[in-house]
Amino acid sequence: MNTDVADATLAEAIDFARATAEQEAPGLVGDYAGVEVDDERMVTHLFPTLDPAYRGWRWAVTLVRAPMTAEITVDEVVLLPGDDALLAPPWVPWSERLRPGDLGVGDLLPTPADDPRLVPTMFSTEDDDEQDIAFTFGLGRSRMLSFDGRLDAVERWYAGEPGPEAPIARAAPAACASCGFFVQLSGALRQAFGVCANAYAPDDGRVVAVDHGCGAHSEAVVVPSSPAPPPPLLDEHGIDVVGGPLGHDPGSVTDSDTAEPFGHS
Ligand code: SF4
Repeated sequence: MNTDVADATLAEAIDFARATAEQEAPGLVGDYAGVEVDDERMVTHLFPTLDPAYRGWRWAVTLVRAPMTAEITVDEVVLLPGDDALLAPPWVPWSERLRPGDLGVGDLLPTPADDPRLVPTMFSTEDDDEQDIAFTFGLGRSRMLSFDGRLDAVERWYAGEPGPEAPIARAAPAACASCGFFVQLSGALRQAFGVCANAYAPDDGRVVAVDHGCGAHSEAVVVPSSPAPPPPLLDEHGIDVVGGPLGHDPGSVTDSDTAEPFGHS
């Protein structure tokens, strides 16, 4: 069987193929664009569509012929994209389209049973004391973070906003490791990460790297205590001072209807 050479009878049936395509889309079949050999006694004639909504698409009319007969049969008429066809972007499953922050209130995000970020916990006990100890070490759950899951988190956090290269960290007077508001994580990540517990810091309540930092560092500035307020002043301009610790006795001020401390009325 030689499929490189088109069957002569089918290859010459261009007008028949065009008429077939016109039945599907009257007035929207363009100039002849060639023939493709599909198999022995099977070819496909191509015609660009004139439909402006399908730029670059072609009508493909597949013709076949039975052996020992010249009768041509239409196998299929279909609109197919050409090399320069305008196509929709490839479909991507929702699980791959999902981005951090997409999860809303009430949404559920199922985690696959074989999620590489998690491994089964090989420890189970009914004893309360043992459960307490297990919880302290991060056990007591059906699955826990795998080595890959930890590595992902470390790389993501360290390279992102909680890391040492964030602009706020580069301008910080000192690192989180020496800050009084730094609460170290437990477990394998404790050497590199903690949580910021400073209500005035932009990272309050978030994971930060030990070499992250910000201007709210506990030792950044020593604030001096406020000086004592000065003694009150008495406006003596409109009164006669007779005596007393402030220059007059209570009730002895004459022409005193205007006597008021500064700032009062
Ligand atoms: S206040 Fe600033 S320096 Fe201190 S732990 Fe928080 S982010 Fe780090």
